[in-house]
Amino acid sequence: MQRIAILACAGALLLAGCRAPCGGTPGGVPCPVLGTRPPPVIQPIPPPAPPPAPVPEYGGGAVKRSDIIPPGGISPRRWKVIVVHHSAAENATPQGMDAWHHKRGWSNGLGYHFVIGNGVNYPDGKLFVGPRWRGQETGAHCKSSAGRYMGVWRDSNFFNEQGIGICLIGNFQSESPTPAQLRTLQELICLLVQETGVGYTQIYGHGEITHKTECPGRYMNMASLRRNVASALTRPAPTARVWSR
Ligand SMILES: [Zn+2]
Repeated sequence: MQRIAILACAGALLLAGCRAPCGGTPGGVPCPVLGTRPPPVIQPIPPPAPPPAPVPEYGGGAVKRSDIIPPGGISPRRWKVIVVHHSAAENATPQGMDAWHHKRGWSNGLGYHFVIGNGVNYPDGKLFVGPRWRGQETGAHCKSSAGRYMGVWRDSNFFNEQGIGICLIGNFQSESPTPAQLRTLQELICLLVQETGVGYTQIYGHGEITHKTECPGRYMNMASLRRNVASALTRPAPTARVWSR
């Protein structure tokens, strides 16, 4: 009788511990162990974000002095002013503009001395040095008649003959230049001021000179560009000025 009682007690304990078929029962599931939790779901760890690209400082960035020194050197005292343009088309390329300018009958092709890409069809911030700069030739980018500009008499075609033409690809009537374009532009202008003797305040947008075009567009902030160039060259900021005709 004692043996039967022990077996009955063990059977009761088993029934109390398992509510579902388990432990060797065909088709059963393992019994949960008291005091434990299901293993946590381990989420995969995302790879670390790449570090931000360093922003080049003036003098060590997008433009090097060797980029802008032509094979025959820079004509001394030739250049008096820098004229900034936009292409008015975001998908332009230096090669395409060169072909277009040839088509217009300009035998020397690309009328600008420099072009800066926007990343659409020409790399963002990349500087293209045109053949007219390499040959220190007159540009074809800012036609002007003889007259008084900023209180100074200028002969006809002065801004093509003594102005360095820089074109940023893009339509800045509807969009801003890219940060890379502005960095290249600023570095290029600083180098040109140092290498050519152009006054650091003599930086103008096309329309500021002729008053006949919106070029280089409302989103190209010329006043800010002049201030940044002065700051990079550690010179006093130029005073506000507007070209008179
Ligand atoms: Zn222009």
